[in-house]
Order: sequence, then C-alpha cells, then structure tokens
Amino acid sequence: MPPTPSAAPDRAHPPKPIPVPDEASAGFWEATARNELAIQGCQHCGHLMHPPRTMCTGCQSTKPAFEWKVVSGRGRVRSWTTIRQALLPAFAADVPYTVAMVELYEQAGLIMTGQLHDIDLADITLDMPVRAEYTELSQGVKVPHFVPVTT
Ligand SMILES: [Zn+2]
Repeated sequence: MPPTPSAAPDRAHPPKPIPVPDEASAGFWEATARNELAIQGCQHCGHLMHPPRTMCTGCQSTKPAFEWKVVSGRGRVRSWTTIRQALLPAFAADVPYTVAMVELYEQAGLIMTGQLHDIDLADITLDMPVRAEYTELSQGVKVPHFVPVTT
C-alpha cells in the first residue's frame, strides 16, 4: 500500500521557522509561552545574559550555575534596522518590518533583539521606551517582539 500523501505545502503562505529549544534556551521559550521574558542569570554573581550561554560572561565561573529570572519585558531602543527584502519566503508578507536592539531595564548592556511593531519607521527614536509582547508561531511556541510604551 502506498504511503498516504501529506498535505500539499502552502506555497503562498510558507510557515515561519519555529524555534527549537535546546538545553541552554529551554527556560527562555517556556517563559515566552506564558507571555513572560525570562533571562538567564548567574547564581554566583547575578549577571544576566541573553542569549543564554553555557558560561557566565560576568564572572567566568569555572562551575557555572544558572537560574531563569522573569524580567519586566521593558527596555529602550538602542538601535534598529528595517528589513525590506525577505531572505526567507515565510517573511515575504511581513516586509518591510523593523528589527530593534532593545536594552532591557534590568541591566545595562542586556540586549535583546526583536521585531518592533505598532510604530511607523519615521517615529522610531533612540532610547524610546518599549515593552515585549508575544506572537504565537505554533501551538505553545511564542516569539517576543516589542511595541512602544505610550504612557
Ligand atoms: Zn557569574
């Protein structure tokens, strides 16, 4: 008996790549699934790191131990760029879109990169305050992006 054909791929709307958590990043993705940002923190010196690493960049401990710290998801825009040409077909419908480097409030130099939504390119300013929101890419898998804080 021949194998059952799978559903034909949707060439007009190809799926976006889904993050695959590994040992170092699982806590981050578990938090985003709950609409929270959790940042890897060193249990020796308290240094926060993103993206997750296997060695503390604060104290370079030879016996690293980490915990996940839920942070506010708030920060300020330190840099940004606008993507006008999709490198992957899955993002073709999104262009142009803006990607920002956001310095989270919890620690100087703690940078997270994500799309910036709900603002026109001409209105983006250096140090503008933003907060994280979450886009569900598939069931239980959410990716953070940032939106302006308008208070
Ligand atoms: Zn450390």
